[in-house]
Amino acid sequence: MTEDEFTTEIYYESDADESHLDDVTVAVLGYGSQGHAHALNLHESGVDVVVGLREDSSSRDAAEADGLTVTTPVEAAAQAQVVSMLVPDTVQPHVYEQIEDELEAGDTLQFAHGFNIHYNQIQPADDIDVTMIAPKSPGHLVRRNYENGEGTPGLLAVYQDSTGDAKERALAYAKGIGCARAGVVETTFREETETDLFGEQAVLCGGIAELIKAGYETLVDAGYSKEMAYFECLNEMKLIVDLMYEDGIGAMWDSVSDTAEYGGLTRGDEIIDDHARQNMEEVLEQVQNGEFATEWVAENQANRPVYTQLNQAEKNHEIEEVGERLRGLFAWEEGQESEAEDDEE
Ligand code: NAD
Ligand code: MG
Ligand code: MG
Ligand code: MG
Ligand code: MG
Repeated sequence: MTEDEFTTEIYYESDADESHLDDVTVAVLGYGSQGHAHALNLHESGVDVVVGLREDSSSRDAAEADGLTVTTPVEAAAQAQVVSMLVPDTVQPHVYEQIEDELEAGDTLQFAHGFNIHYNQIQPADDIDVTMIAPKSPGHLVRRNYENGEGTPGLLAVYQDSTGDAKERALAYAKGIGCARAGVVETTFREETETDLFGEQAVLCGGIAELIKAGYETLVDAGYSKEMAYFECLNEMKLIVDLMYEDGIGAMWDSVSDTAEYGGLTRGDEIIDDHARQNMEEVLEQVQNGEFATEWVAENQANRPVYTQLNQAEKNHEIEEVGERLRGLFAWEEGQESEAEDDEE
């Protein structure tokens, strides 16, 4: 499949042959959300795993306590035939420079997100395979599902196939981390990267946070209490999304009152109107033409001035203070907090 083709081919356990990872060592670079899950799941699936972390990394103790072999990224890559790049996306080009010389002809460079390959921040040598197995879920769920004998859906993409075996090896990797139990959808680095960036900007992270804050501010500015505004615009969001997640948007409409359904169906598109849709198209365009990627790379090179300021402003928003106070009233939600922390999307 080329970078401009889209398909919806789905692979399962019976399509994946784990023997493609026989006699192979997988270096998992990074032991964060995805790294710990991939390393432990592969290890328990019988794959030889070595974890690559900096000498001073705080994750070293955790990986060793989990029974894994830990060394530096360079040494791990030297030992391995498959190098799984699971350090933060902004750090990957730097780590790649360090390990580049350890990748021999026929080795695989494996990703869980396509940003650095798609936007040429990493330019791999021609004689290696470049693949992606990207679980469509935060790492802690990839790990928990595997432990429960369940799977996590994932994406598969092959950017470069120098051996002729790239897809088979990627499928074996997907089987090793448990994704093939649930289904592995074939895509391309381009499609994964562009849909991921668009989704998190326009809908999942950016869109929803602005929708919640705008609704909250509209109610508070009109004199309603902060508590009512918080419950109505933020707290109830989860209940509504849960219904859609479980059985679709129709199930949500069925579950709310007819008044809510009529009001939502007639007013929703006055909020997300033609202008909002045009803005979405512009955001997608900036993802497609590389403008967003260039901006984000430059922002990192400048030590994140805009990011730091926006991150702080968001933390200082009144809704956060109201929410902290009100969530304290829900003792039963406490146990869920630690798991929600490393959710990306
Ligand atoms: P993370 O921030 O949770 O973990 C990063 C790990 O890399 C940490 O163990 C950190 O100690 C280590 N690290 C940082 N700098 C390093 C360096 N210079 N050398 C070696 N190790 C270093 O990262 P993550 O969220 O698991 O993301 C990893 C990849 O997975 C990214 O490509 C991301 O886009 C992708 N991904 C993440 C999720 C998610 O839910 N978090 C979902 C799908 C894909
Ligand atoms: Mg090697
Ligand atoms: Mg993302
Ligand atoms: Mg209501
Ligand atoms: Mg209308």
